[in-house]
Amino acid sequence: MNLPAPFAPIAPSIDAALHDIFGFESFRTGQRRGIEAVVEGNDTLIVMPTGSGKSLCYMLPGCVLPGLTLAVSPLIALMKDQADALESFNIPATYINSSLSWDEQRQRLAGMRAGAFKVVLVAPERFKSQAFLDALAGVPIGLFAIDEAHCISQWGHDFRPDYLNLGEVRQKLGAPTTLALTATATPDVQRDIAAQLDFDNHSVVVSGFERPNLFFEVYPARSRRSKYERIEALLDQTPEGSKVIYCATRKQVEEVGRNLRESGYYPALYHAGLSDQERDEVQDAFMAGDAPLLIATNAFGMGVDKSDVRAIVHFNIPGSVEAYYQEAGRAGRDGEPAHCLLLYNRADLRIHEFFTENSFPDRKLVERLWTLLQKHGVGMHTLDADMLADHLSRAGDDRVHPWAVGSALRLLERGGHLAFGQRGPAPWLEVIDQARTRDLRVDWDALNARRGVDEQHQEDMVRYATGHTCRQVYLVRYFSDTAHDIAECKRCDRCCGPPSYAQAAGQVRAPIVVREPAQTVLRKVLSGIARARGKWGAHVIAAMLRGSRAKKITGAGLDRLSTHGILHALRQDDLVRLLDVCSQLGLTTQNTYGCLSLTDAGTELMMSSEPLSETVADVLARHLRSTSESGEIPPGRAASRPTESFPRPASGDGELGETYLRTLMLAREGHDYRQIAEERGLTPSSVLRHFMTLAQRGHKLPLDDHADGRLLPELRELASDWSPDDKLAELKERLTTPCDYDTLKLNLAIVLQERFEHAQTPEAS
Ligand code: ADP
Ligand code: MG
Repeated sequence: MNLPAPFAPIAPSIDAALHDIFGFESFRTGQRRGIEAVVEGNDTLIVMPTGSGKSLCYMLPGCVLPGLTLAVSPLIALMKDQADALESFNIPATYINSSLSWDEQRQRLAGMRAGAFKVVLVAPERFKSQAFLDALAGVPIGLFAIDEAHCISQWGHDFRPDYLNLGEVRQKLGAPTTLALTATATPDVQRDIAAQLDFDNHSVVVSGFERPNLFFEVYPARSRRSKYERIEALLDQTPEGSKVIYCATRKQVEEVGRNLRESGYYPALYHAGLSDQERDEVQDAFMAGDAPLLIATNAFGMGVDKSDVRAIVHFNIPGSVEAYYQEAGRAGRDGEPAHCLLLYNRADLRIHEFFTENSFPDRKLVERLWTLLQKHGVGMHTLDADMLADHLSRAGDDRVHPWAVGSALRLLERGGHLAFGQRGPAPWLEVIDQARTRDLRVDWDALNARRGVDEQHQEDMVRYATGHTCRQVYLVRYFSDTAHDIAECKRCDRCCGPPSYAQAAGQVRAPIVVREPAQTVLRKVLSGIARARGKWGAHVIAAMLRGSRAKKITGAGLDRLSTHGILHALRQDDLVRLLDVCSQLGLTTQNTYGCLSLTDAGTELMMSSEPLSETVADVLARHLRSTSESGEIPPGRAASRPTESFPRPASGDGELGETYLRTLMLAREGHDYRQIAEERGLTPSSVLRHFMTLAQRGHKLPLDDHADGRLLPELRELASDWSPDDKLAELKERLTTPCDYDTLKLNLAIVLQERFEHAQTPEAS
């Protein structure tokens, strides 16, 4: 071959390169197979988890092969990291992107032509630049490497339109040997990547998804409070190394931060709401070990490679297994044991439903928006997504979120029907044509398909959280359909039950004291679940077991079940806790709506009259203490747990926020205000404030049990025009009946409710 000297190989063999250039002793699993395939000239797809050493798989062949290695990477920040890494190995390399001045770019392009570099890193949009394509002409390409290759697939979790052109680019480059690298590709996505890049007869290396040092755990958390209990126990038992708590939203990051700070921890926070500089500072502090506890959104972590992360907690369920594995996989890079805890509460799925709904708005909304814009006519307007959303909300009967409008505007923009942007503080929007709605150039099928992919990803993630197989087996199979023979990990909570730190979380709660033998109580709980026939969640089943006559129970006929009231001596939250224990023991499953049903093991245990197995008895003993077996006299009821104070979430004026409605719902389900506080992680006094506001707005609350024969008549007199915004202390001072604040608030709520009803009665004067 007659290559210009600068493009000649810089190492004679794979092994020589490994030792002499990279200074590594040996290849890691998967690396040799992948590298050999590439060096032999096969198009190759390598799927290996983050941190497993994918970069070596393109860098090393780049040294052994003649010609230039052209590597595509999606993010400017990552590119610089990779170029630095290459330089640290003395491999002549550079990157070319828009962060560089024109002059700098020109110099690097000239260098590339002249063979000054073995590796050049670019972002996919670089191929739109004619200057770049011109500079490439005549440069021998030894290897075309595409990092984060899942971005090419619409089925992937991070599709990027710029990646779509890479198939064409590859042809333009003369179809050089191509290597696609990704940490997260399901078998479907793997096939799609190969098809998009027009591979045929390519090699696939899927490797390294087993992480033998990671302990995977899912905790079905019924309440925020139980999430915090669990996190604190984990943090307390993990004094070494760094820990990250991932949350779904910035607001959630801030809330978790506040709560942990109140409990005496010192977390650092990271989310997209911080300035670039603040984010860099937090990241640097984390890397240096000065901020060992970090609470972050998924904005954190790209390119972060810290070896001693000992725990990764997900406060909310992520949107896909890909995202989860990527984030959780940042634990234990050093090979030492590390813990990955997912706190699963079904209600958190709503966050993702919201993302999906608003990112892929339905056709009706796009058409309604277009009709509205047509009323403004062709031309320039001062309009933005907020204003348009407001308009649509007022015109229709549903609330349209500005985010959905933003997504719809982008669809219309892509179809060439409009353009929009921001000039200084003023938004502008240009309607370009008068297309009829049915002629809109929007690919509705693609839109629906993308929405479907998002929903599928979410379902797969829920299946991970609620499934009964070994966590590791589930994760590995998710990424590789050839991993039939993978063995159970013997480490995760499914293989081994709750981890040891969790006992500390359990011990915070005193066991529930009962008069009957523990196994009788357990069997009663199980028969309650069986009678509910898979149609109800834990709260309703608990209410049924304790014999609640709340509307929700009687309305559904649950009061006619033979199990109604069979555990009337227990409190609602005790019963919910026992239902949790059943799930921990694998006796129940829950569907995606949170409805419980018995597993085969649960049914068997319910029917049997044998004594409990040792494992079951052990776990149960931590939650349930029976006086029938020890002959003890039971105290009146189970010791109640101390209530921690949690900051009150901000409440809006005007319309009642969701927090009120959740309080209302729980109250109507028959929960006492203290139980609601505990369940929701609020203080009892916040819940009572909710009660008063709800009552004032005419929401009916079951408060009759709290009516105080002396206080109530006095309040009807004294507080006839009292409002929840007025000072309670002043009112209390004027009262002659002695009472505590809780009683006062409950009775005030009754008065407010009466006042509302009175005002609604037409004959009232
Ligand atoms: P990925 O791209 O798969 O997330 P990287 O390529 O960034 O992972 O590699 C992670 C780390 O592992 C890097 O610090 C890299 O130098 C190191 N590494 C890669 N291969 C080996 C090896 N064979 N021996 C030792 N260290 C390696
Ligand atoms: Mg990488």
